[in-house]
Amino acid sequence: MTDRSISGASHAARKTRHDVTCFRSRATFSAVRRGSSPGCGPANEPPKPSSLPDTATSASPKPPSPSSRPSTGRDAASEPIRRRVICHRRGEAPGPTLLCIASLHGNEPAGTLALERVDAALRAAEVEIERGELVFLIGNLGALAAGKRYLDRDLNRGWSREAIARIRALGPRVSEDLEMLELDDKIEECQQTARGPLLFLDLHTTSAASPPFASVVDQSEARRLSRSLPVPTVLGMDSHLDGTLLEELDAHDFCGIIFEGGQHDEPEAVDHDEAAVWLLLQQLDFLPATPPAAVSRRIAWAHATLSAAAGSLPRLLEIEYRHAIDASCGFHMEPGFRSFEEVEPGQLLGRDRDGEVRSPFAARVLMPLYQAQGDDGFFLVREVD
Ligand SMILES: [Zn+2]
Repeated sequence: MTDRSISGASHAARKTRHDVTCFRSRATFSAVRRGSSPGCGPANEPPKPSSLPDTATSASPKPPSPSSRPSTGRDAASEPIRRRVICHRRGEAPGPTLLCIASLHGNEPAGTLALERVDAALRAAEVEIERGELVFLIGNLGALAAGKRYLDRDLNRGWSREAIARIRALGPRVSEDLEMLELDDKIEECQQTARGPLLFLDLHTTSAASPPFASVVDQSEARRLSRSLPVPTVLGMDSHLDGTLLEELDAHDFCGIIFEGGQHDEPEAVDHDEAAVWLLLQQLDFLPATPPAAVSRRIAWAHATLSAAAGSLPRLLEIEYRHAIDASCGFHMEPGFRSFEEVEPGQLLGRDRDGEVRSPFAARVLMPLYQAQGDDGFFLVREVD
């Protein structure tokens, strides 16, 4: 492993937290900063065989594999049975490892569909990666089959070395414990076999309408990667959320991008996620210098698709405020907001058991919550000068 410019030890130091006073019609309060993930349905394509066998292992005893559980939310007969590893490619030359993870939230199928598309296109064009390793993983197999954000707990929460050690010692107790162990095994394997920088792409979608955007920690390597995608980049998510997969990956020296492709079940979200993958493959020199025409066309399509979707939005923004909620809040977002929509100071954004929730300042709203599960009511972002 060489050229790791990002240190996992730096993560804690990066976290800076500030109490934010939110303007309400009745009272002010200090926002509670507790974690969840950036926001993010069904899949109909047949499962693709992996290039390499899925070598994930986990503690024993363990509950049934998530992939073997029946769908609980939809017609199980119509749902394909998927495996954790969509593909694991290894180039002859050393180079970066790119770990792409989709559907960490099970109601976000777009990322899985996008990874399956890219894998199928590479196979159809008979393209092998030139260097490094390329790994496509599904995050929450059980929740994806059920079409739910999660079955027992949010899989984008509770990541820590201590938590994983505890689950390994006691055995997985709920569905997401097993998902977590299998993912952790694969992440560990990628770290051990890496012959270059460790990079990741975490694919999500949101409950609200949204143009595609990237979210990164404010580090040079992550910023460099995000600049290869012609979409807005949002900084600061890591300062507002605890226990995300991002922290786990950081602990394993991975650096990368959380990519939000759009609204959960919109076909465009699959396009956006797929486009992001193609552009990163190109940026990281995984593809041949002169790829087959079908691949070249896909890359041109990817750039045009993301550029058109992002339009004239600012290219760099930072999270200034997170409206944390829990089930007891009774929070409901006012209808009709979409990500990056500009809001005025005092503008009504939602309601909860205490009354109206208004914007504390002029900003753009990000990921307004329009689904039952989740503990981020909305974020407010501002352009970085
Ligand atoms: Zn998500």
